[in-house]
Amino acid sequence: MTRAQTRVVVLGGGPGGYEASLVAAQLGAAVTVVEAEGIGGSAVLTDCVPSKTLIATAQVLARARESGQLGLQLLAGDGWAPVDLAAVNSRVLALAAAQSADIAESLRSRGVQVVTGTGRLAGRDAGPRGGHRIAWSAPGLNGQPGLNGQPGLNGEPVAGGELIADVVLVATGASPRVLPGAEPDGERILTWTQLYGLAELPDHLVVVGSGVTGAEFASAYRSLGARVTLVSSRDRVLPGEDADAAGVLQDVFARRGMSVLARSRAASVTRTHDGVTVTLTDGRRVTGSHCLVAVGSVPNTSGIGLVEAGVELTGSGNVAVDRVSRTGVPGLYAAGDCTGVLLLASVAAMQGRIAMWHALGDAVTPLDLDQVCANVFTDPEIATIGPPPDDSVRAVTLPLAGNARAKMQGFGDGFVKLYCRPATGILTGGVVVAPGASELVHPLSLAVADRLTVDQVAQAFTVYPSLSGSIAEAARRLHTRALA
Ligand SMILES: Cc1cc2nc3c(=O)[nH]c(=O)nc-3n(C[C@H](O)[C@H](O)[C@H](O)COP(=O)(O)OP(=O)(O)OC[C@H]3O[C@@H](n4cnc5c(N)ncnc54)[C@H](O)[C@@H]3O)c2cc1C
Repeated sequence: MTRAQTRVVVLGGGPGGYEASLVAAQLGAAVTVVEAEGIGGSAVLTDCVPSKTLIATAQVLARARESGQLGLQLLAGDGWAPVDLAAVNSRVLALAAAQSADIAESLRSRGVQVVTGTGRLAGRDAGPRGGHRIAWSAPGLNGQPGLNGQPGLNGEPVAGGELIADVVLVATGASPRVLPGAEPDGERILTWTQLYGLAELPDHLVVVGSGVTGAEFASAYRSLGARVTLVSSRDRVLPGEDADAAGVLQDVFARRGMSVLARSRAASVTRTHDGVTVTLTDGRRVTGSHCLVAVGSVPNTSGIGLVEAGVELTGSGNVAVDRVSRTGVPGLYAAGDCTGVLLLASVAAMQGRIAMWHALGDAVTPLDLDQVCANVFTDPEIATIGPPPDDSVRAVTLPLAGNARAKMQGFGDGFVKLYCRPATGILTGGVVVAPGASELVHPLSLAVADRLTVDQVAQAFTVYPSLSGSIAEAARRLHTRALA
């Protein structure tokens, strides 16, 4: 079978699905993507894009609030300017919808057929080529019409249909986990997907969950001017991140007046007449006006014919895949949050591309999680690259308080931390805590991907003055240590 004859069906139009579709179309396959809610997926409609847009607004206020040290007085009184959250959220949602439309257009312009509907595996085709049957129906995942209201394959309104595929990619994503006893009502008890319906800034937002999502929203809403209480079941915020970075963030949170309750596990969240009560497992109660429950997500893998097709699911319900995104069933691949490999849009996209390169016989490099760079969009941001360090690496940490550009810009929180192998000086990873760390981490990502040594990193010019100067300086210090 030639690539042009290969029929590819992608279930789910998030980053895992749409990036895979673009690669498959580029390689000449006949590609159909079936998406229930809107192209771009949760990443574009409810998760990354809306949250980072909201955070961009919050950052402007945070900078303005701290402008006194630069010799400016931009905000009167206590520095908490009123925020028109309805206007902020309407911009957020418009931007997300536009981004979804852009991606859908980009798919169509490259010949990918977009079907709005819920799809499921429906057994094998009896025809000579075999293949997988995919049944789809027009209503969205929640029984609602698809968000973007697109019609079926040829433009006519259809209730459903069936597709036959030689290659199927399952990229159905994940949904917010609901804590029993803390069921969201969409008004006061909210998941992260429901925050953008708020017309007014919460007076007091209680955030349950101090992982990346909880920390990002706690940071943003505090910068927007809400009182925030962060309920963390662990010793500190961001239990999965670098401990020094989490320490910086926790100090910043405390300085900005956020209340962080460590070792506090929420047992239930209930409505009061004008707010919410969060009851902790030790009986303490926390009251607030609103509660965001951010306790992780569950994969969208049930009821879509995976088990019937012989696909192995893990104990947590994720699709088990190898490093080229294969399930154990020939022709069936999976990518993104439904696999639980690493819940990042960038990883979903790479898994999706890898699946298509592999399925369509192009050159492919298996997924390497040691090269993934990730960012927590708190203020300051925390960017990491490479695997968590162990005793075998040499490390240096350089506080940004000593960086000339940081002083000029008026911030002192943060650091650059680099790791290398002592024998060779090859850079294995690092952490950057700084405003804009998500951009600063890219040279480190290149260095790790290309196995550059700390000396090679140190020898490249950086602009003076610049925050990236601290990256080169940290690399220079590792050279001194390597010689010691
Ligand atoms: C608040 C928040 C912020 C985040 N911010 C970032 C960030 O800044 N950077 C980052 O890298 N990651 C971020 N993430 C993680 C990122 O959103 C996910 O890793 C990413 O969305 C995974 O992409 P995906 O393609 O696997 O799934 P999704 O984006 O969830 O897309 C899956 C799609 O499949 C559709 N679908 C499900 N079932 C079916 C079916 N049966 N038929 C048809 N369609 C179906 C869904 O409607 C959905 O559109 C964030 C997550 C959250 C919760």
